[in-house]
Amino acid sequence: MTNKTALITGANKGIGFATARQLGSLGMTVLVGARDAERGRAAERELRDGGVDAAFVPLDVTDAESVAAAAKRVEAEHGRLDVLVNNAGIVLGDGPGALPSETTLATLRRVYETNVFGPVAVTNALLPLLRRAPAARIVNVSSEVGSITAMTDPTGALAGLVSVPYPSSKAALNMVTAMYAKELRDTPIKVNAANPGYCATDLNGNNGFRTPEQGAEVSVHLATLPADGPSGLLWGFQENVAAGYGVLPW
Ligand code: NAP
Repeated sequence: MTNKTALITGANKGIGFATARQLGSLGMTVLVGARDAERGRAAERELRDGGVDAAFVPLDVTDAESVAAAAKRVEAEHGRLDVLVNNAGIVLGDGPGALPSETTLATLRRVYETNVFGPVAVTNALLPLLRRAPAARIVNVSSEVGSITAMTDPTGALAGLVSVPYPSSKAALNMVTAMYAKELRDTPIKVNAANPGYCATDLNGNNGFRTPEQGAEVSVHLATLPADGPSGLLWGFQENVAAGYGVLPW
């Protein structure tokens, strides 16, 4: 057992909920970040019924007041934070298959608010509490569609995908991850980006070929890295490697 505390954003469903359950089953206290109180409380209840020490924390990652209130609450109730999983994310487009030339700035702004500015806001608010933990871990849930290498490989699995909002938001999140890792390289804090693989969740109409639980395994691995583990990587599901998991190119 452990007395560690983990905050997961967007933890009321999908990969975030599965991450909360898995970190909880390792003995961590899990703070279920959710923007909707009813959904957050329902997730808390389900986790607690399963034996997890879970507490709902209201948290809309696009709302500065909500982020500040969540950080204040974590400080008041726990004094420090051991694990932060920036998991909340959205997919939005200007119609099915909208091309870069058809993309509106309104869509781009909405996606970036959640997928890029959200993780930066939440990390900055929680960093003082993460620094108080002996060896904190920050996991930014990204995607292989944020890998410029993967997205521009003409023979790769993503060769047919041409879209700006979501892929470019995850590419930005990858750089954000690399830069926090660089800032924190002389501390015990490790910062990595996770590639869960294509998981069946509401994000993609439940079309993924992996389960949310399998996607969560990636975040849990990065949230529990040992002291000699890596920092500043995009790591996770890889179809073409025997182990199924590995470091992905940026
Ligand atoms: P999901 O089932 O749609 O869950 C997304 C979660 O994010 C929900 O809890 C949602 O809350 C929350 N959220 C959205 N906007 C928020 C905001 N402003 N503040 C707080 N929470 C917010 O999707 P998922 O597949 O589990 O996605 C989790 C992460 O994995 C995302 O970052 C996604 O980009 C990434 N990912 C997913 C896949 C995949 O194949 N599923 C692949 C690669 C990466 P509500 O219920 O209130 O909407």
